[in-house]
Amino acid sequence: MLQRLLLLFLIPVFELFFCVATISENFEYQVLHKSAVVCDLHCDTVLRLIQGVPLGVRGQGGHIDVPRMKEGGIDLQAFCCWVHPQHVPPESSALKIHRMIDVLSDQFEINSESIAVARTGTQAEAIIASGKIAAVLAIEGGHAIENSIEKLKTFRDRGVRYMTITWNKSLDWADAAADTAPQHGGLTDFGRKIIKTMNEIGVIIDVSHVAESTFWDIIETTEDPIIASHSCVYNLCPHFRNLTDNQIRAIARNGGVIGINFCSSFLDSTFGRKYDILETKYLTEIDSLWEVYKGNRDRYVEEKNTLLGNEFQSIRPPLDRAVDHIDYIVKLVGSEYVALGSDFDGTTSLPKGLEDCSKVPAITKKLLEREYSEEDIQRILGGNFLRVFKKVCG
Ligand SMILES: [Zn+2]
Repeated sequence: MLQRLLLLFLIPVFELFFCVATISENFEYQVLHKSAVVCDLHCDTVLRLIQGVPLGVRGQGGHIDVPRMKEGGIDLQAFCCWVHPQHVPPESSALKIHRMIDVLSDQFEINSESIAVARTGTQAEAIIASGKIAAVLAIEGGHAIENSIEKLKTFRDRGVRYMTITWNKSLDWADAAADTAPQHGGLTDFGRKIIKTMNEIGVIIDVSHVAESTFWDIIETTEDPIIASHSCVYNLCPHFRNLTDNQIRAIARNGGVIGINFCSSFLDSTFGRKYDILETKYLTEIDSLWEVYKGNRDRYVEEKNTLLGNEFQSIRPPLDRAVDHIDYIVKLVGSEYVALGSDFDGTTSLPKGLEDCSKVPAITKKLLEREYSEEDIQRILGGNFLRVFKKVCG
């Protein structure tokens, strides 16, 4: 009888204990995430905005808009402008980028109570302290400057604060990682001049997408810290877009920072192959969807995901894969050199639990579960990028 009474008493006590523990865990990560400055080093959201998607309205598709950024506690978002180098004549790349900056500026103006452009790290801190999101303008691919230092300076005057040196195609002055036949063995003399100019005028050098030879030439040439705005760890996922241990060590020595890309192909070495098989299986249907929805990126992605259905969902990596890449860099060089570089709206396959920017707090939860200190988490979420931003741009 006594035993039964004891059990009746103890079961609710245990339940209460676990319930309180779970509530306090949830509370802890939310409080920490809210108090931290959260920076995302890379998104392609402008590609949706130029199709007429409003930044201020919560969308069904895509990964970023103001309501979801607020929900995800995003304090600073780098908005990258990109044009495909093969789809436009080179002479029009700069104009297209200027048009994208126009669209971004209009959207920031419409949402001026929530978001403002930061031209310096100090300005970003003031914008964030006022309760708004700091937007950083960026360019992906040096083809945008059309071999002209003057055009680079014009972009700088318009507020561009980082430039990814190459995209997937080599330039006249720098080789890209995706290029199977590198043309220069790194940077040309003009390429080095561009790097030095970026140092002089305060534009951050981004090494995501560059060939390894270009990377080492940049490390040798730059006097400022650099970023890899959206790259992951080669040793965990041997993809040409990822960084070797030596490259990660060099970025740490340089005082730079690596933004971990959430794209499944860069996180999980098995994903790319599985996805290729799936795309090949539905090639005709996917092509038809593209023809119908190419003017509506969000709808195309939505319809494509519906088409691929459970087969696609089952191959998406878990959120832990993204955290593994953060963890690897921290263990290799310390917590001062890693950050978030989502590639939101630039990729169609994200880990489970990281479907859009509103889900970013899940990373903070995972880092706490892995017993990261609050200081380390704050550095990773945003402190590291702010350090580089302030050092290069003031
Ligand atoms: Zn990219």
